[in-house]
This record gives sequence, structure tokens and C-alpha cells, in this order.
Amino acid sequence: MSKEKIKVYKFGGASVKNAEAFRNVAHIVRAYGGERQLLLVVSAMGKTTNALEQALDLAYRQQDFEAVFQQSEAYHADVLQELFPSPDSAAHRRIKQLFDELRSALQRISSSDNYDKAYDQVVSYGELISSALLHHYLQEQGLSNTWVDSREYIQTDSTWREARIDWPGTERLIKRDLPPLLEQQLVVTQGFIGGTGENLTTTLGREGSDFSAAIFAYALDAAEMCIWKDVEGLLNADPKYFPDTVCYPEISYQETVEMAYYGASVIHPKTIKPLANKHIPLYVKSFLHPAGKGTRIGDCRFEKYAPAYIIKENQCLVSFSVKDFTFVSEQNLGTIFKALSEVRIKINLMQNSAISFSICADYHPERLHRLIGTLQDQFIIHYNTALTLYTIKNYDAESLNRVIGKKEVLLEQRTRTTCQFVCR
Ligand code: ASP
Ligand code: MG
Repeated sequence: MSKEKIKVYKFGGASVKNAEAFRNVAHIVRAYGGERQLLLVVSAMGKTTNALEQALDLAYRQQDFEAVFQQSEAYHADVLQELFPSPDSAAHRRIKQLFDELRSALQRISSSDNYDKAYDQVVSYGELISSALLHHYLQEQGLSNTWVDSREYIQTDSTWREARIDWPGTERLIKRDLPPLLEQQLVVTQGFIGGTGENLTTTLGREGSDFSAAIFAYALDAAEMCIWKDVEGLLNADPKYFPDTVCYPEISYQETVEMAYYGASVIHPKTIKPLANKHIPLYVKSFLHPAGKGTRIGDCRFEKYAPAYIIKENQCLVSFSVKDFTFVSEQNLGTIFKALSEVRIKINLMQNSAISFSICADYHPERLHRLIGTLQDQFIIHYNTALTLYTIKNYDAESLNRVIGKKEVLLEQRTRTTCQFVCR
């Protein structure tokens, strides 16, 4: 008999933002997922990650974080209360315990700590809490499941806030423990977080839960993965900016990776590679209309896709010129790239001319100032901020006109399929 295949579902923050949303998750699991061979990866509830970032910032500056902390605790308590009316249930005890731990973690922070390391120890509680709630709720609904601590499975290095995966170690641990559990029941675990060999918590980057789900899917040789979202599938633009979006019924891994890379907020950019390597199809579906077809991302080839519009705000454009009128050389570029990587500025677009080199990147004031500090002896550096990077994939005359219109373009780049503009 052929082995039954495992499915991985990822539920993002919006799909567990209140009690009603938790009920809906239970419905989707029962109606579409089944009661075994299904791993659930969950993000922090609603905007919890932002709230925890705020509490962390306050704690780090040795300011009072209590109000922010209590607001987040009260938000979770309301949901808990609605799902579990009896205050002495196991769910109440567990959530209380996690918030107590979180408070102690915040209290321990001193301004001399490594900020990024402290970030991972604190902000990871969002997922620990939401997954505990989901575990208890499904259990109570008769959907028997095990809560798994993903820090014991997703093994990473200690690049805080952007940890790199130890793939062989991670795969071995997941393969060793999870298939036998999944034979019997559901497994509930956290997105976004991993663990180091020294038992410290790491995170995989904002919106990293998609990536977590793909890591589990890869290690489990899953039959499919599904991301449940508040949109009907993978759209060609963000409905926040464009009223008339279209949903792709089917799209290739490659096309999706490029869209994610250019900054489409639909899927975390690292999600696709592990799935594509094992030909695991990825579905993007609406948790509001779960019976809809959504989008299937996989090994398909199409000649022509509808133009995709990707907007990245809060960009800076930084230009480096050599001081002595020599040309920008490979050696100069090497110096610039090394400094960029040291301060962790990622290039979204770059261009060079005879005596200058320009990059467009997300604007992080502190990182940019460190970069300037490192390079100002060797280069004249100019920069602009508050810019927007527009990317149009599969562009045509109409789509270009629609996006750029009369905007002031500071830098432009075109390939056969993609057009990018940095605009004020
Ligand atoms: N909770 C994390 C975030 O908001 C991870 C995720 O949602 O994927 O970034
Ligand atoms: Mg999210």
C-alpha cells in the first residue's frame, strides 16, 4: 500500500485574530484537512508581533512597557474567555504561564544587550501563545492534536532575526519524530521561530511563518502545502493600492519567487525554494471562502501572465561616487558590497555609471548611518529617502502608464519581462 501523504496548512495572523477566526480554523481543518496527517503552522494572533516589537523597544530603552504588555495580554484574554468560558481550564493556565514568562523576559532586558538577540527571545512569544491557544481549542473541539515546539525542530544558526536554517539537522529531527505522531493525529506548531544548538530562540524574519511551513513540508515530503489568507488567492497586485486585481488560478514557482523577491507581500520570499526542490504544490486559499479554488503554485509553464504590480514603500536611494574621478571598479564595488553585507542592507535594485554606483534599499536609518560611517572616507555618498519602488512584471504599455503616469522617476531599469522604477 502506498504511504499516505502529509499536508501542511499555514494559518497567518489574520486567520486567528479573534474567537470567531479560531472557530473558522477548526471548521477548515475538519472540512478540508482531516483529523490526521495534517500539520498546522500558526502565526501570532492579529497584530501581536507589532505589539511585542513595541514592548521590546520600550524595555530596551529601559522605559515602561507595562501598558503595551497589558493591552496584548487583555486582547488574548478576551479571545481565551470566549473560547474557554471556564477560567480554570488548562488553556487559561498555559496562556497565563506564557505571559508570565514573556514579562520576565522583558524585565531581564538591559540596554547593553544585543538588541536583535533580545528581539528573538521576546517576539517569539506571539507564536508560542497563539499555537498554545489553537492546540487547546482544537483539542476541546474533538480534534486531537499534539503541540510541538518548533524550536526543537527548526534548527538554525544565531543570525538573530534572520536565522539561517541547518537543513540536514532540521530534516533529521522532523523526520524522526513527526511522521509517527501525524499517523495518529494533528500536529500544531509555530511559524516564524526556530532554535539554536544552545537552546536559544531565533526568528526567521517578519512574515516568516510561510517559510516555516515550507521547511516542515520539505522535511515531511508533504503532498501539498496550503497558506490560508484573507484574499482569494495569489493576486497580481495589492488590493490596498489597486481596485481591480486579478487572481492567478495557477502560476509557476519561478514567477512566484520573483514576485516575492520584488516585494509582493503575498508570500515570504524564502518559501518557494524548499517546495520547488521537492515539487510540492503550494495552494493559496481564502479562509473566508475556503471552498474557492484559490491559486495553485507549482511546476507549470505559461507563456503569458497578467502584469503583476509590486509596490515597496519607504525606500532609500544611495549613490556612491569615487572621489578621484577614477572609474567605479570591481575593487570599489567589492568594498561597497562588503560594507552593505556587514550592516545588513539588502539591495532591491542597483545600477552603475562610470563614476558612481547607486542602490535602492529598504530604509533603515541606523544601518544607513553605519554604512556611511564605514565608507565615507573612500566615497562621496548621497541619498534620498521616502521613495517608492515600483516593479511591474510582464509589463506592457498600458500597465507602465497606469503605474508611472506623471510620477517623478529617479531611477529606472528594464529587462524583457520586468520594469522597475524608483519614484518620489
Ligand atoms: N508573526 C510574524 C510576523 O508578523 C510572523 C508571520 O506572521 O509570518 O511577522
Ligand atoms: Mg503574518
